[in-house]
Parts: sequence; C-alpha cells; structure tokens
Amino acid sequence: MQQNWMSRFSENIKNFEGYSIGKTLKFLKDPDIISLAGGLPSPDMFTIDEVRNVSQKMLMDDAEHILQYSGVPGESNLIQAIIGFLKKDNIEVSEENLLITTSGQQGLDLTGRLFLNPGDIVMLDRPTFAGAIVAFQMERPEFIGIKIEQDGSNVTDFKQKLEELQKVNKKPKFIYVVPDFQNPSGITMSLEKRKALLDLSYEYDIPIVEDSPYRAFRYQGEHIPALYTLDQKQEGGHVIGLYTFSKLFAPGMRVGFNIAHPEVIEKMTNIKEGNILNTPKYNQDIVAAFLTKMDPDAHIEKCKKYYGEKLEIFLNAMDDNFPAEMGVSWTKPEGGLFLWVTMPKNINTNELFFDALKYKVAFIPGDSFFGENPELNHMRINFSYASKEQLVEAVKRLSMCVKDKINKK
Ligand code: PMP
Repeated sequence: MQQNWMSRFSENIKNFEGYSIGKTLKFLKDPDIISLAGGLPSPDMFTIDEVRNVSQKMLMDDAEHILQYSGVPGESNLIQAIIGFLKKDNIEVSEENLLITTSGQQGLDLTGRLFLNPGDIVMLDRPTFAGAIVAFQMERPEFIGIKIEQDGSNVTDFKQKLEELQKVNKKPKFIYVVPDFQNPSGITMSLEKRKALLDLSYEYDIPIVEDSPYRAFRYQGEHIPALYTLDQKQEGGHVIGLYTFSKLFAPGMRVGFNIAHPEVIEKMTNIKEGNILNTPKYNQDIVAAFLTKMDPDAHIEKCKKYYGEKLEIFLNAMDDNFPAEMGVSWTKPEGGLFLWVTMPKNINTNELFFDALKYKVAFIPGDSFFGENPELNHMRINFSYASKEQLVEAVKRLSMCVKDKINKK
C-alpha cells in the first residue's frame, strides 16, 4: 500500500519548504553565468598553505583525538582563543558564556529551538537574513517585520509595534537583527539606534539576537560597538550574540559560536547534545590555529582591502550603468559582502532572475528576505565572489537586462 507520508510529517515540518536561496542557486549550472547570487567569500582569501601545514601537523601529532568524539560545548583551546579575539572588540566573556556551534546556521537553529513555540512572535527587519527566517520557521513563529532604514532598524516603528502588542497582552520572544553590514542590504545600525534598541529591550523585557558574521569587515567609516558590548556596560544579559568563522576564515570549516547569559548557553548546549553532539574537533583545531598562529588581524586587513576594492568597483559600475532615469536605487554599504538593489515597483525580480540568466548574470530575488508580506522588486547582490573584471561585466549585463525589461513594459 502507498504510504501517505504527508499525514505522518510533524506539524512543524509539514509545510516547511527549506531554504529558497539554495533552490535558486540550483539554476546556476552554466559556467558562463556570472553569479552575484550566493554569499560566498572569495577563495582568493583562503589561507590555503597555512591550513595545509597546520592540518598536516595536527594529523601527525594528535590524530587519535581528532578522530574521536569530543566535548559538546567545544574545544577549550578554541574557546580561549575566541575569548581573546572578542576582548579586542571590547566583548568580555568567559567560558560559561560561550558555546561552539557548527557554524552560524546552527547558532540560529539553536536560538529558534530554545525560544519559540508555534505562534510566538519574532520581530525582525524588512528585509533581513533569509537563513534566519528559514531557521526560525521550523518552529512556526509569527514574524513581525519593520522596514529597515539607511542607518539600521527603524527603532521608532519597533517601539510602536511593541506598544500595540502590549495592549493585546502579546510580547515577542526576541528581536533579531544583523547590525553590522546586514545580509542582504549591507546596512549598518548607527550607535544611536543601537542604544535605542537596547533601551527597548530593557523597557519591554525582550532579548535581542545580534547576528554578526560580517562585523570585522568594515572598509570605511567608524567601528561601532556591538550591541553585546553596549548591553554589558548597562544591565547585561539581554543580548545573544551569534558569530561564525565562515566569512572571516572559511565556510567549509563550519565553525562558529554563540555568546549569551550562562543559562541560555547551558540550554543551547543541551539542544546541541540532542542533535549533532560535538562540532568536529579537527575543524575546531584549525580555527583555533587560525586565531592563534596565522595572524588573524593581518588576514582580516587583507580581506578588508580586497573586498573594499571590489565594493568600490561594483558601486562605480552601478553609477556608470544605471543612470537615474532607470529608476533603480541601491544601498552603499561600508563593509560586508552584500548590497540591496531596488527596481522600479513594476519589476518583479523573480521574473527578472530568469531574464538575467539569459544575459548570463545572476542575483538573488529579494522576496526571500522578508518574514511576511514580501516585496517583489528588490535583489540581493554579492560582490565578494566574482572577480573584479567579472563584477564590471556583470553590472553591464544586468543593466542591459533591466533596460530590455523596462522597454518591454
Ligand atoms: N547569519 C548571517 C547574517 C549570514 O549572512 C550567514 C551566512 N550567510 C549566517 C548567519 C550563517 O553562517 P554560516 O555559513 O556560518 O552557517
């Protein structure tokens, strides 16, 4: 007899469709397509020789431990190295505040599982990181999105929404933000807004989840304190920090960490015990070597220079190829790997995506980056992966494609 699988799937998963971006990337098989779609760091920035040497030594000296299970919270050499790394950014944590994760996406999953029951409210920016939306969606929350501004979350609208919710006895479980060079928009939250958001967190007693994969990649402008630091200087314990070494070092390592109040970390550790147990020791040891032996500051400086140049080239090419009369606008990030392009209202970027493939250029349609009521006329652009020459060519192709679309309308 034919099994009716759907009737057996859990309520949480029945209508869960996974990661839309992953599905979009499947269309990009043609090697002639210049992809501005994925969020890939450039392999030019991988410290390949150093990793080879460290790996070889590790396998010679410590293979019997590397091949073994290891502790769920993470390797203490890595934890100590991260504590030192965070200190340089004025974030003071000890071992009890820190859990090693199998990268940023697991950090998000642990957060969703820890806090959300079906129907719980999560507040976030419009747009925000699609991977966070999909991680939290597994718990079937309700998303309330607030339109992001040039200097970050619209804190006034957050407050207004919180007041409305309070009147009907509702309270979000947490507020999710990417304050530094947000994925997808590249927008950074100003210091004033960080302080104001933290005040909201205190006033309404709601934790803030600060997701920070790009924080070290500032190419211009002033470094702004992390929400975690600002909270530590006041009440403390209101911010949960999610970090990953994917962009800073190498996404193939799948190593990241969460920082939070010890009670939060303990529960997240329990969840990790129930799913993946330990993050591979081999990967953790390589990341620890990156932090302690490979001069991470010099590496970050090198990445900043390289990606900063790419961003400048990309922005100049946009100025050259998208004259004002086309009605296209875009963000001008000071760091990170992404920017956000807004088309005239009547252009649906899901359709434009397939037109663009004919011009051999790809981006991610913007609708995936909305927790609710998606807007259809945006695109996310990644400028870190394609070569400098490809970036210029990609913008030309994109401009031709958009002009063609506008003329046909
Ligand atoms: N958070 C944000 C904001 C991201 O952009 C990413 C990666 N694109 C992640 C988390 C997940 O990182 P990882 O690749 O380490 O799982």
